[in-house]
Amino acid sequence: MNFSAVKNLKTFAFDILFPKFCFGCGVEGVFLCENCFAELSRAVEVQKCPVCSLRNFSGVVCVSCREYTALSRFLFAHDYKNKPVRDMVHAFKYGSVIEVAPFLASFLVRVIEEYAIPYRKTVTVVPIPLHAAKRRRRGFNQSEIIAEIFSRHFGLKFLPDNLYRAKNTESQTGFDDFKKRRMNVSDAFAVLHPDEFAGRKIILIDDVSTSRSTLDSAARALKVAGAQSVWGVVVAKG
Ligand SMILES: [Zn+2]
Ligand SMILES: [Zn+2]
Repeated sequence: MNFSAVKNLKTFAFDILFPKFCFGCGVEGVFLCENCFAELSRAVEVQKCPVCSLRNFSGVVCVSCREYTALSRFLFAHDYKNKPVRDMVHAFKYGSVIEVAPFLASFLVRVIEEYAIPYRKTVTVVPIPLHAAKRRRRGFNQSEIIAEIFSRHFGLKFLPDNLYRAKNTESQTGFDDFKKRRMNVSDAFAVLHPDEFAGRKIILIDDVSTSRSTLDSAARALKVAGAQSVWGVVVAKG
């Protein structure tokens, strides 16, 4: 997706009363200037197996790592340490700066295009859902907005309401222990209509993935529903 295409995605643009500054260089008037957008679009991370971190340029899970994750592929656009990206994700999620969504979605598009990842038109795009109560509080699901722009770009089927949070998981920050954190999200997801996922290839979208446990848990629910394969695609990897 080129810069003007991103700018033309007016769907989520809205008027704001305070001045905008580029998240990259600080120039006034835009959330991301053309130069910073170009730079961030060029800087695509080398993909690796999400389990053992072996570099493989395609994010495919090694055969020997498959027993540890329900994902068959994991792709990420940026490292979460990348400051402009992290700031944009934060502004979107916690400051409701929805105008950055097309930029974040374009980074996902770029990963698929950069690595010429073969996908079929039969792929279904699914965002990681928020728990209903959390969604009401925030007013939107950031992953859903990014996933919708992504699916529209490739003309893929978009199903945001079938996978859902089965229980309100406790705030993850309370758990220092990695294993506890993993257990906390196991079975956190369920599917309303399994037939909509049965036999489908799913691209699961999230804004950020740190421990991968949320993606794994959601992917497990999709596989139980009969999905043929699940890819996890995220803007930033922690
Ligand atoms: Zn800039
Ligand atoms: Zn591996």
